[in-house]
Parts: sequence; C-alpha cells; structure tokens
Amino acid sequence: MADSNPPPPSTDRPLPERPGPVRPVYVIGGGPGGLAVAAALRARGVRAVVLEKSDRVGASWRGHYDRLRLHTTRRLSALPGLAMPRSFGRWVRRDDVVRYLEKYAEHHELDVVTGVEVTRLERTADDDGWLLRATGGRELTGRAVIVATGYNHTPHVPDWPGADTFPGDLRHASAYRDPTPYAGQDVLVVGVGNTGAEIAVDLAEGGAARVRLAVRTAPHIVRRSTAGWPAQRSGILCRRLPVPVVDRLGRAIARVSVPDLSAHGLPRPATGLYSRARDGAIPVQDVGLIDAVRAGRVEPVAAVESFEGGKVLLADGSRVGPDAVIAATGYRRALEPLLGHLGVLDARGRPRAHGPRTAPEAPDLYFTGFTNPISGMLRELARDAGRIARAVARSAA
Ligand SMILES: Cc1cc2nc3c(=O)[nH]c(=O)nc-3n(C[C@H](O)[C@H](O)[C@H](O)COP(=O)(O)OP(=O)(O)OC[C@H]3O[C@@H](n4cnc5c(N)ncnc54)[C@H](O)[C@@H]3O)c2cc1C
Repeated sequence: MADSNPPPPSTDRPLPERPGPVRPVYVIGGGPGGLAVAAALRARGVRAVVLEKSDRVGASWRGHYDRLRLHTTRRLSALPGLAMPRSFGRWVRRDDVVRYLEKYAEHHELDVVTGVEVTRLERTADDDGWLLRATGGRELTGRAVIVATGYNHTPHVPDWPGADTFPGDLRHASAYRDPTPYAGQDVLVVGVGNTGAEIAVDLAEGGAARVRLAVRTAPHIVRRSTAGWPAQRSGILCRRLPVPVVDRLGRAIARVSVPDLSAHGLPRPATGLYSRARDGAIPVQDVGLIDAVRAGRVEPVAAVESFEGGKVLLADGSRVGPDAVIAATGYRRALEPLLGHLGVLDARGRPRAHGPRTAPEAPDLYFTGFTNPISGMLRELARDAGRIARAVARSAA
C-alpha cells in the first residue's frame, strides 16, 4: 500500500481487503443505481460490496434542494425488491427518497462500506479481475466492478469571462437549498432544465423581488400529468418508436396542452422533443413554470455570455444587474480520472458500453446510470440492475 498508516474507514465494519478464494464484486457508488445492482447481485447469491465515498447512502439525494419531488411516479421509481410505501404519495418528496434508499440498503442487507472513494481502476496483474485504488492508499481486488458514480457527478459552471468580477453570490444549483436567503433580491437563474425551471419558480414563490431565467435553447415543456396520465408513461410508450414519429407526436401534444409562451420570451422549441432528449436534454416537467412565466413572476431572458463587475451580459446584447446568480448548468460525469486510461469512454466522457454490455478491452466492468432516458432514470436503473446481475453471474459461471 502507498500509505503505511491509512485512516480507518468511517464504518465499524472492516474493509474486505483480503477476500476469500472468490474475489467479491465491487459496486462503486451508494446511490440508487449502485444499491439496486447490489441487491440484484445478492438475489443471485453473488457477493457484492458497495463502496461509497460519503458517510451515508443516497448522498446525491441528501444534497438536493428542499422543494424537490420526484417527477417520475412512485410506482415507476421503485428499485427491485422493495416498493415505495403508498404514504409517500404519487410524487415522492426528496426526504422520502432518502428514507427509501436507507431502508432499501437495510432491507436487502447490503454490504455498504462508506467513506471510501475509489480513485482509479486497473486490471489486476493476473489479468483476472480489477484492482481498485481508493482513498487512504487502499487497494482492493474484485472479479467484477460496477461503476455507479452518477450521471450528475460533478457540478458544472461554464467558464464565463469576467465571472470572477461579479460582486454578488454566484453558485451552482447543487448548492441551492431554499429561497429564504434570496428574499427581496433580484436573482438570475441560468439554464432551463428541470432544475433551473423549478428553482426559478421556488424563488418567485419564496419572496425574491425579481426572478429572471436565462435560456440558451427554448426547452420542451410537458405537463407532469394530464387527466391522471403521467408524462413518464408517455415516455415509456414512446421510447422504442422512431425519433421523427415521437418528435411529431410531441409537437402535437404540446400544441394542445402547453400554451404558447413566445410573447413572454419563451418560444416553442425548434428541434423535436425526442431529438433533444436523445442529445441529453430531457423535457422540462411543468411544476409551476408555465403559470409563473405567464404571470411575469419568472422572466425568460437570453443566454449568459459574460460578466462585467455587477453586470451580466446576455446573448441578445442586453445587460442585467442581479444581486445573485444561480447556475443550473448541469453536471459532468467526471469518469476520466477513475478510468479514462482504459479507453472505455466516448468523446463526451460517457461509457461506450452500458448496462449488461461490457467493452472488449474491459471485461467484467459494467456501468449503470449514465444515460438520461425519457422513461425515467430510476426506472432504467432498476431494470439495468437485474440485467447487470444476470451478466455478472453468467460471466462467473
Ligand atoms: C435534481 C434531480 C432530480 C431528479 N429527479 C429524478 C426523478 O424524478 N426521477 C428519476 O427517475 N430520476 C431523477 N433524477 C435522475 C436520477 O434518478 C438521480 O440522479 C439518481 O440519483 C441517479 O442515481 P445514481 O445511483 O446513478 O447516482 P447518484 O445518486 O448520484 O449516486 C452516485 C453515488 O456514488 C458516490 N460516488 C461518486 N463517485 C464515487 C467514487 N469515486 N467512489 C465512491 N463513491 C462514489 C456518490 O457519493 C453517490 O452517493 C434526478 C436527478 C437530479 C439531479
């Protein structure tokens, strides 16, 4: 080991550093994706150890803003082998998602080791497994590895010229909790994905004096549910249809269900719904944005180009002077330091093989949670868990 005196892990249980005759399967990440795979492996009698860098499971969900609820339904968001209780309601609150993940790990008696961040993956010297280098100089060997470190791993803020001259509060949406600190303030939210749209509404309802929403590309907005039919179900039904067909359908549905907000600065998008979704931009579920924009409580403005002291320069040449800026500008997968050297990532830093498939140069190395499907990510994580467990068990056989 590189470190002769590594700090102990933040768990009472010892790390399984010296496995018995059979090397365990390691799952990197104790979010819904990692927990679901570990449960599916356990159900097949495969010994799996989840390595989680934070001190508890569900770390990403613990950090999300207070107002957040799942925009996918409770039933279509449950992980294998444990339903979410009816008492959570149809649209599950953030805190209940966290409770569910805690319960899930307990219910399936998962072997979760917290406080361990895996920093690099390499093939073992005997080329019969994987060497995981982790914090504290730890080295672990597994026969298979499932990477479940999250699609939304590292907050990304664009490198705006002059951003460092902005005197106000500029933060990524991942650091936003609730509107209280913004009461009476002029706030610019940048980015109109689900997060930016919801934070803008939260601020408008929570006492901010003025809320502007900087939009680079007009989003597709869909009703979370129409006459009891959730948008997620349409996503599931449409998932296997040809892209142009879904684009046409999406346009027709939007025309009848979503008002034209062009006069308020939010035109209908030029590119089709599914074309955009395939490119990573899933539609915005309306949780108040339409009403807030119509009422002028959220004002769409052009994209942010740069900063000049207290002024923000927008793409249409205008300037605004907010007190605070919240960048809802997405996340990066950040897989490169961990496994960029293995040649398994595409040009955008996403794994080339996903779910039960593996890249030929990286046998027994699986990825879950690195797509953003219109059918709901939790649902896909749940489905991939079973498929990956089957592939791992087969590979061992
Ligand atoms: C604001 C928001 C709302 C969402 N709402 C929905 C929704 O309504 N419905 C839906 O289906 N999906 C939703 N998603 C998408 C998705 O379901 C969640 O992001 C979900 O948490 C993904 O699970 P995951 O396990 O892949 O990743 P994460 O939940 O991010 O878990 C990854 C885990 O890996 C750990 N980790 C990372 N790197 C390492 C390392 N090197 N070593 C050890 N541990 C590591 C992290 O600490 C974390 O605990 C939402 C996403 C966001 C950001």
